[in-house]
Amino acid sequence: MRMTAQRKAILDALRKLKTHPTADELYEVLKKQIPRISLATVYRNLELLSDAGLIKRLDPGADRKRRYDANVEPHFHVRCTVCGRIGDVKISSDFNVHEVITDTNNFVVEGYSIDFWGLCEKCAGKMSKKGG
Ligand SMILES: [Zn+2]
Ligand SMILES: [Zn+2]
Repeated sequence: MRMTAQRKAILDALRKLKTHPTADELYEVLKKQIPRISLATVYRNLELLSDAGLIKRLDPGADRKRRYDANVEPHFHVRCTVCGRIGDVKISSDFNVHEVITDTNNFVVEGYSIDFWGLCEKCAGKMSKKGG
């Protein structure tokens, strides 16, 4: 894959954001920098960068939006149940899932994923202000 100027700008913008943006969200940021860029270009390049393994595509959540992550190291995600924002979750490096499994129904386990959910800082703040 050739690293064009636009592609590089898209990759850099994604690396700066820690919010796991959608193509639309990234486009809003990029068009301030590159006024002639189109949403289709952003989307196509995000797909190419994912295929090349430079970024990660996240599974769409309940909001059906496809989000992207510049952090390709293994890590987990927490999803806000109100606004859909995604954050990274770090867990202790000596966590070993095989130590806590008690039964796999005779399956040979080769991998796993853990999903966290809750409220992001913004939504948690709104909730407490409402005094609920
Ligand atoms: Zn939220
Ligand atoms: Zn992430």
